[in-house]
Amino acid sequence: MRSVDLSRRGFLSGFVGAGLALPSLTTSAAAQAPPNRPLVVTSKTNNAVREEITTTAWDIMRAGGSAMDAAERATNVSERDPRDATVGYGGDPNEDGFHQLDAAVMNGADNNNIGAVAALENIKTPSSVARLVMDRTDHWMLVGRGALRFAKMHGFEEENLLTEEARQHWVDWKENLSNRDYYFPPSAPSEPPGGTINVLTLDGNGDIAGVTSTIGHHFKLVGRVGDSPIIGAGLYVDNEVGAAGATGHGEECVKNSGSFHVVEMMRQGLSPQEACEAVCQRVMDRHNGKPMFNLKFVALDKQGRYGCGALRRTGFAVHDGRGHRVEDGRALLPRLTQAELDALPWR
Ligand code: ASP
Repeated sequence: MRSVDLSRRGFLSGFVGAGLALPSLTTSAAAQAPPNRPLVVTSKTNNAVREEITTTAWDIMRAGGSAMDAAERATNVSERDPRDATVGYGGDPNEDGFHQLDAAVMNGADNNNIGAVAALENIKTPSSVARLVMDRTDHWMLVGRGALRFAKMHGFEEENLLTEEARQHWVDWKENLSNRDYYFPPSAPSEPPGGTINVLTLDGNGDIAGVTSTIGHHFKLVGRVGDSPIIGAGLYVDNEVGAAGATGHGEECVKNSGSFHVVEMMRQGLSPQEACEAVCQRVMDRHNGKPMFNLKFVALDKQGRYGCGALRRTGFAVHDGRGHRVEDGRALLPRLTQAELDALPWR
């Protein structure tokens, strides 16, 4: 991943990486600056897909399209691409070798409307089904069989999402399980391997949208649902303030209402970078300063500032008037060492 060149970053970049050391913009200062839009921020740093993701969203918004369309189509890139083993088609399956996908959407322009699916099987683009739940029903979430029936009713085709590579990965995991799986002994620490995409967008009208989509944790228990489809945890948008999305240990994110918390911090005047770090700090404090997992937030605000804060592993991609790029954000702690990882129960 390319590291950040701080010197080239402009005023509107949100002071990414600078953390709490720099003063936050006051509301009046931010109001005076021309808004940095359109803007796309994604948690996805996989080099096979990241540029296509941000560019897809950027092109839609540059052509006058909405933040919601941009975020959905950009997420579809990741969901459809088998080189991304953490989202949609080609992702690692659950413990029984099939996929149960989670996704959420939130549309600032539509009075912060929401939609979600959880444990959806056999559909490549769960975020688009979540969008239909938002746009075409009075419900906010459909799960499992009901979500699949709804998707098929709207013309989605059932497909086998298990690529040969993912199947081999799963078989390898099965063959090497020993005592390392998701059934923890009491009080065991955890850093489940997982992967997720958040796409946050700010369009030319100043409207904000967000999408989160994931396989969840690799080889998770059948029926497990994480933070990604939970509004306020894996995703939150407030069209007056900004948006945030989470990746990493979903259970911990839900416990802390992570994305809602980040947006509320921005509402109180923190920059996106400061808000992401503040919530990570809260989680870290609740784990006596040594969480044995990662949690990462990306965020943007109404002015077009953005940031990324994490406990242990950071990085995100951006596209604005200065083009596509990958930036570092800031992690509060070093990565877990190999010895620490080896001591975790399922590896
Ligand atoms: N947050 C996701 C979940 O818990 C996984 C991840 O982002 O790695 O389902």
